[in-house]
Amino acid sequence: MPDPRPLPDEPLPIDLLNTELIASGRRVDLLADVDGLRTWLEAVGRPELPASPAGLAALHEARAAVRGVLEDAGDDAARRRLNAVLDRGRRREELGDAGPASVVEVRDEADRLAWEAASALLQLLRTDRHRLRACDGHDCVLWFHDTSRSGRRQWCSMATCGNRAKARRHHARSKDGTAKG
Ligand SMILES: [Zn+2]
Repeated sequence: MPDPRPLPDEPLPIDLLNTELIASGRRVDLLADVDGLRTWLEAVGRPELPASPAGLAALHEARAAVRGVLEDAGDDAARRRLNAVLDRGRRREELGDAGPASVVEVRDEADRLAWEAASALLQLLRTDRHRLRACDGHDCVLWFHDTSRSGRRQWCSMATCGNRAKARRHHARSKDGTAKG
C-alpha cells in the first residue's frame, strides 16, 4: 500500500490533522472508514494496532480536538475535548530490565493512538507552539511543524503550494507590466 499521507515527515498530531485534505479539488478523509485507518496505521508505523470502529471514533475525536486547539488557542470547548482524550490514558515511568522505560497505559486499547497524539500535541505546545502552522497555500488545509532553522516555513511543500504561490506572484507581476507598458 503506498503511503497516503500528503506530508510524510510530520509528528503524529499533525499527521492526524492531515488526514483531512483536499485532493483534486475534493475534500478527502483518509480516516473515512476502517480500511482507511488500516492503511494509515501502516503509514505512521503502527501496523500492530487494531483497525477497529472504536479506534476510528477515538481518532476522529482526537483529530477534532487537536484542530480546535490549534485553530483557536482560546477555544475552551476544544481544550475540554482534548483533555477528555488525555483522561483515557497515562504514561507510567519505570525502570525495566532493559533500562528506563515509559509505558503508555490506556483504559481501552482503542484509545491508544488517539491518546498518544494528544499527548504528543502537549509536548509540541510546550516547546514549539508558534511552529505549528497551517499552510499559507490557497485552498490548502494542511498543517506542518516548522523545523526549519529560520522558522519561516510558509508552505506544506515547496513543490506544490510554494510553487503555485510563486507562479501566482509572477502572473500578477507580468499582468502589472502589461498594464503599465
Ligand atoms: Zn499547502
